[in-house]
Amino acid sequence: MRDSAAADKRVEALRRLYPEASLELVFDNPFQLLISVILSAQCTDARVNQVTRVLFSRCPTPQDILALSQEELEEMVRPTGFFRNKAKAVRACCQELVDRYGGRVPGTLEEFVRLPGVGRKTAAMVLGNALGVHEGIAVDTHVKRVSQRLGLSSAKTPEKIEADLMQLLPREDWTWFSNALILHGRRVCKARKPDCQACGLAPWCPYPDQA
Ligand code: SF4
Repeated sequence: MRDSAAADKRVEALRRLYPEASLELVFDNPFQLLISVILSAQCTDARVNQVTRVLFSRCPTPQDILALSQEELEEMVRPTGFFRNKAKAVRACCQELVDRYGGRVPGTLEEFVRLPGVGRKTAAMVLGNALGVHEGIAVDTHVKRVSQRLGLSSAKTPEKIEADLMQLLPREDWTWFSNALILHGRRVCKARKPDCQACGLAPWCPYPDQA
């Protein structure tokens, strides 16, 4: 069973380390963040930001993206990798936004997860960061790894990990918490070699490999 007092200490330490944690994707509105998150699979945020700067200057709306040919869109997103599938996913999502929501991004998680190719992780990330609607905790590979190492969840699936994490802090902190775990996973608690010596969470972390 999770020790909630110990978990609180880890959450508070994370808050001191990353008080204003935000995403590293650059966006001006929910639509841009949604497309950026789709493109970010298996790609760095820096690379996605390079691609979207060009993409959104040419195509600021879903309708503009749909006006591109498949080949044009593939060429534009090519640097993010898996470009054929990503171009298809972006196009399908834009089509649904236009058909069902008049080109706007919906405002609830329930509507969001009905968009093609959009799961709870993307929905929670976009809703929380672009709309200030905190309906879940986005569990990506970093959130999964860091929360497990910190002993905040022993679950294996993103859904169960999310449910464990949601109990740890109030709803208004859910988006911050996910962002903070992502930053910590990228900068310190890396997959292959966590830098436990330099980690501000080490005093409260049960991870057995810390030096
Ligand atoms: S002490 Fe090590 S395992 Fe624990 S959070 Fe920090 S880097 Fe990760």
